[in-house]
Amino acid sequence: MQHLSRRGLIAAGFALSGFAPASRIVPELVLHNGRVWTVDPLQPEAQAIAIAGGRILAVGSDADVLAMAGPSTRKLDLGGKRVTPGFNDAHAHPCESGVQHLRQVACDKASIAEIQSALRERAARTAPGQWVMGFLYDDGKTPRPLSRADLDAAVPDRPVVVRHRGGHTIFVNSQALKAAGIDESTPNPPGGQYDRAEGRLTGRVADLATDPIDKLTTYKPTRDDYREGAALISRMFNKRGVTSACDALGFPDTLQGYQDARDAGTLSMRVYCHVWHEALPRLMEAGLHTGFGDERLRLGAVKLMADGSISERSAWLKDAYLDMPGDYHGLQVQKREELVEFARKAHAGGWQIGVHANGDLAIDEVVGVFEQLQKEHPRPDPRFRLEHCTMVTPELVGRIKAVGALPITFGGYVYFHGDVMHFYGRERTERMFAMKSFLDAGVKAASSSDYTASPSDPMMWIQSQTTRKGMDGQVWGASQRIGRAQAVECATMNGAFASYEEALKGSLSAGKLADLVVWEQDMMAVPAEALVEVQVQRAMVGGAWAYEA
Ligand SMILES: [Zn+2]
Repeated sequence: MQHLSRRGLIAAGFALSGFAPASRIVPELVLHNGRVWTVDPLQPEAQAIAIAGGRILAVGSDADVLAMAGPSTRKLDLGGKRVTPGFNDAHAHPCESGVQHLRQVACDKASIAEIQSALRERAARTAPGQWVMGFLYDDGKTPRPLSRADLDAAVPDRPVVVRHRGGHTIFVNSQALKAAGIDESTPNPPGGQYDRAEGRLTGRVADLATDPIDKLTTYKPTRDDYREGAALISRMFNKRGVTSACDALGFPDTLQGYQDARDAGTLSMRVYCHVWHEALPRLMEAGLHTGFGDERLRLGAVKLMADGSISERSAWLKDAYLDMPGDYHGLQVQKREELVEFARKAHAGGWQIGVHANGDLAIDEVVGVFEQLQKEHPRPDPRFRLEHCTMVTPELVGRIKAVGALPITFGGYVYFHGDVMHFYGRERTERMFAMKSFLDAGVKAASSSDYTASPSDPMMWIQSQTTRKGMDGQVWGASQRIGRAQAVECATMNGAFASYEEALKGSLSAGKLADLVVWEQDMMAVPAEALVEVQVQRAMVGGAWAYEA
């Protein structure tokens, strides 16, 4: 343990504020007798934290920090519990998934019969002609994928759409196909696919082919739904130790939902909100760009999309998928020219660029776009975001480093989606979710869930990244294992860096926001394969407890 001297404490306190001389700042709260993992290289471990005005006043030994307390200071004995910075889910879909939790059938169930019965039950409470909607479905977690016949059997008389938790594919019944005017003669649109078996539609619809159905799903969330959804999801995230998240696909409606929740005092996490490129002109006209907002809610990057999904097998790959029919390489979504056209304006207008890119071909294309942008219009520190950045090569890692891009990786996929790794194979999983390659190259990779695609659960990410084991114990890509402290840093500091907020949060350091987690079990010490069992005792956002078990 490194001790901070009294003089050091005062200097730290004074540097943070600009409000009053540090000698007169009395902490409102002192947390003591803890095992504090700070993620601050100047002082990696500590015992106590002093908090005032929503910020950290000091971090140090019990003796030094308790000595700062005044008569009004509350003191909380942590009883030796582990404390870390609040975690940052650097790519998720919080507001949208919060609204889904409010309004739709959760289909994260292990059998098709259970899903059918949940849909049947919801259909009975749904007005005739209205859609029955499900979400959180994962075809890798049921014995076989849901079929049109399964959904027809459950709900024959109303349209049903069940969305894969990865977001790129949907499963529909015959009424839904009929309503959307899709039949066996409908061709696949560019960038999308209607799955067929022996010429008959199976009900599985991928990527841009989902548009006609998406347009018909009649439920349009209200402004209240967005507010309540944002509040609900922030409580759900806090419960797993997440105090900051990036909404990777915001729209004006969701931005308003976050703001309404913030104003109502119910947004219990911080949100960095990307905006889908179609909404960009309105915001640019208003003179806004990345960074606008405050510590609770801030405008993030403009979001573009180069390819499909890893869990749903539509990432755009150089070499074909294994264990799939034909010579299938996944889907390209937005073409290079289109990406450049949108990104050029945004880049020149002060926007960070975040592009969804999973497969090696997509990443190659997007890094090329970033290189071109910097050549045409060099900007210092653009922090280009490669959302997901799943399958790389050593050559790509070098270019990512050179152009200053940040991989926003799936933290928990080897664990949670181990069942789809065989589609990529042994050789390629050694360069997927390539945390060791990134960190060795000095690239600040951040961790994320892409919730609803996988759970927003930092302990799962750390387990997955340190063991590279699926739920079934199979190892995929052992060469990419990283250490536990590194995994914690990727899920805290590196997430803050990716939103230009590393001076505000990401470590427990004097002057930063008082966002922290107290863990029921010592997550730095439990066996790696027990991390998913570790529970949050309480989580603090801005000096206030957002969650208490
Ligand atoms: Zn996403």
